[in-house]
Amino acid sequence: MKKTYLFLILLAGFNSFAQKISSTEKKIIEHIKTNATQTEKLLEQVVNINSGTLNHEGVRQVGKIFSKEFEEMGFTTEWVSLPDSLNRAGHLVAYRTGKKGKKLFLIGHLDTVFEKSMSFTPFTRLNDSIATGQGVNDMKGGDVMIIAALKALQAQKLLDDTSITIYFTGDEESSGKPTSISRKDFIDRAKQSDIALAYETAVSFNIAATARRGSSGWELTTTGKTGHSSGLFSQNMGYGAIYEAARILDEFREALSSEKYLTFNPGVISGGTEVSYDPALAKGEAIGKTNIIAQKVIVQGDLRFISEMQKENARNKMREIVARHLNGTSAEIKFSDGIPAMEPTQANADLLKVLNQVSLDLNMGEVKAGDPGSRGAGDISYIAQYVPCLDGLGASGKGAHAPGEIINLKEFPGLTQRTALLIYRLTQ
Ligand SMILES: [Zn+2]
Repeated sequence: MKKTYLFLILLAGFNSFAQKISSTEKKIIEHIKTNATQTEKLLEQVVNINSGTLNHEGVRQVGKIFSKEFEEMGFTTEWVSLPDSLNRAGHLVAYRTGKKGKKLFLIGHLDTVFEKSMSFTPFTRLNDSIATGQGVNDMKGGDVMIIAALKALQAQKLLDDTSITIYFTGDEESSGKPTSISRKDFIDRAKQSDIALAYETAVSFNIAATARRGSSGWELTTTGKTGHSSGLFSQNMGYGAIYEAARILDEFREALSSEKYLTFNPGVISGGTEVSYDPALAKGEAIGKTNIIAQKVIVQGDLRFISEMQKENARNKMREIVARHLNGTSAEIKFSDGIPAMEPTQANADLLKVLNQVSLDLNMGEVKAGDPGSRGAGDISYIAQYVPCLDGLGASGKGAHAPGEIINLKEFPGLTQRTALLIYRLTQ
């Protein structure tokens, strides 16, 4: 009796799947299933080429393989070179233009954190559901997912008359500086699109990123009168540079540490009578004695935020705190911009609804917005202020940025099917 009931529920589920997924969409899914082996071969091929950010040759080689795939589907490809001073390989762009549906901008990256000097791990299947290899998850898996999804659309002639740009940067893991140069073309092209989708690692089937925090830096310098320690706290000598730095840092913590999505980490501090810090080496020096009042302190910190407004408000608060000097001291703080935030906009939430509907129609479950605090910044952050966007649509797995990184090959075909239908629905 119970078994019959369960069977009926399954049958009902199957029927609803049949209704919500059109016959065209079924063909797309079928194409992805029948080409799974070929897709995995492409992944194996690109994972087996070292493409650490500084290995220009390797990054270009991976770009060449992908660009052939795009050209076979009728995309025009371009290699975007960067000035030599940036010491980066450049970026791959593939595009087609048409009049149907939304103009899409699909984001991947060719480089990995694993440089050529590190020991190499080739693509290796560990069992029937996982494989390891450099960049297999972050993010050659996501790159290959884009290609497999587009191929399934191409096979049904569904790419005809669509506008899709695929942008694979060659330096996501360590962007060429200044980013105003290394990300200029990327930003310019994204601005011409309606929607951006990024294929960085997926947390799971049920989570996509509608927001990512931005990152920036600050440097605090405090100074005080130096002299014999016995004069400390006196009207004449004051409190010294170290007490002033301690006051400021503690007031930062008191005033701002409970604000959601805001963090500001004093990462390194040097204080004494003679102090220096070299950011390039991330190394500081301090000379001082217990019986001398400290003359100088340098603190280096970061500041992570969910919106430009939050960043600016925090900076203003910090400036106010810095300005309230203890007797006999002075202080100044300098801020530097890093990667902007991908703010949790309504447009991003609406885009998530489209993905969620595709997922529900495929019986793959609900997709919710991930916690922005749990992800670092990514390439999509540079363009999030211009177009609605989603990230975390790529391959699922574990251990990105560490040797032994893995991809979940059981979930890969389902995630590919879902993204193919998302692209299809957005471009019709
Ligand atoms: Zn990545």
